[in-house]
Amino acid sequence: MSTTHLTSTRAVHLASRPHGAPTEDNFRIEEITLPELADGQILVANEVMSVDPYMRGRMNDVKSYVPPFQVGQPLDGGAVGTVIASRSEGIPEGRHVVHQLGWREHAVLDASDARVIDVDIAPTSAYLGVLGMTGFTAYAGLTRAAEMKAGDAVFVSGAAGAVGSMVGQLAGLLGATRVIGSAGTDAKVARLRDLGFDAAFNYHDGPVSDLLGQVAPDGIDVYYDNVGGDHLEAAINHLNTDGRVAMCGAISQYNSVEPPCAPRNLGLAIGKRLTLRGFVIAKYAEEVRPEFQQKMAQWLANDEIHWDETYRDGLDAAPKAFIDMLEGANTGKMLVRL
Ligand code: NDP
Repeated sequence: MSTTHLTSTRAVHLASRPHGAPTEDNFRIEEITLPELADGQILVANEVMSVDPYMRGRMNDVKSYVPPFQVGQPLDGGAVGTVIASRSEGIPEGRHVVHQLGWREHAVLDASDARVIDVDIAPTSAYLGVLGMTGFTAYAGLTRAAEMKAGDAVFVSGAAGAVGSMVGQLAGLLGATRVIGSAGTDAKVARLRDLGFDAAFNYHDGPVSDLLGQVAPDGIDVYYDNVGGDHLEAAINHLNTDGRVAMCGAISQYNSVEPPCAPRNLGLAIGKRLTLRGFVIAKYAEEVRPEFQQKMAQWLANDEIHWDETYRDGLDAAPKAFIDMLEGANTGKMLVRL
């Protein structure tokens, strides 16, 4: 056991709650005290941290499935790093771990709140993406929430993002007859074709329902919804009888101060016998994670899954990285190198 002593670190705090889109003024970087290691604790030098859309909801003072961030307190979220001091027999110094005390350069935490990661399978950052919450959300959302089966035609929105780009590739691996994606730039649409999507469109090019209709002449069986609003309305228009929707996210509404105006066609769900199932990934943690880890490790070993990462450098860049991710600056997973 080792006990390198570090007494403080820098952390991003919530300075104020946003009204609409967050700005850099909503964040403040401050020094925080690091407690001395207690028995069973580790000190981690964070190397990469995740900025995720769900954190936007946590900036509001509303009760949700994750508690809100507190004004004046550090933010938290997924991070990977190296253990630089340890009073845990289970996780000695030198190990790479993934944990939930991101948004700071160093973290002291109970070893039981960290998971050792295997860098022989994939680089550390992958444990925040393809092998982490991102990949798991894609897999569980597709196989459980949407109950996707071979032969389905699958449409996913936010398709060039972290979760969406996994969903499209997984749908192909799981036997989809047609995989369609939407994204916000032509470069992202081109990337989706490289990733094996059968069709893709830029949702800025016209009404989403018209654009989807052009690439899904036979309709869709599954819609994996990362966006909500007009995307969900478009999918409901084009879903076939007994179609299924995995309601994963509604990023088009996260910064809204007005109630959403779509979908206006929910009544179609009755005659088409649609299933719309919202989910949060924690629901599937116990039941689905072992299956996911085993299958994803195999797909990675076979080079059947590809993932993109967009990086920003340094803790000072983290607030802007988060703001930019919400505005679509990322292809694949938005990450901050610390
Ligand atoms: P992404 O990597 O997809 O990044 C967010 C993307 O959203 C941006 O790159 C942007 O891409 C797109 N976007 C932003 N505003 C809009 C808009 N108005 N209309 C359409 N697209 C928009 O993030 P993640 O992969 O991490 O998350 C994707 C979704 O999954 C989110 O909704 C998130 O909340 C949800 N999620 C849900 C979980 C759950 O347990 N239910 C767990 C994890 C994620 P573009 O350039 O294409 O506009």
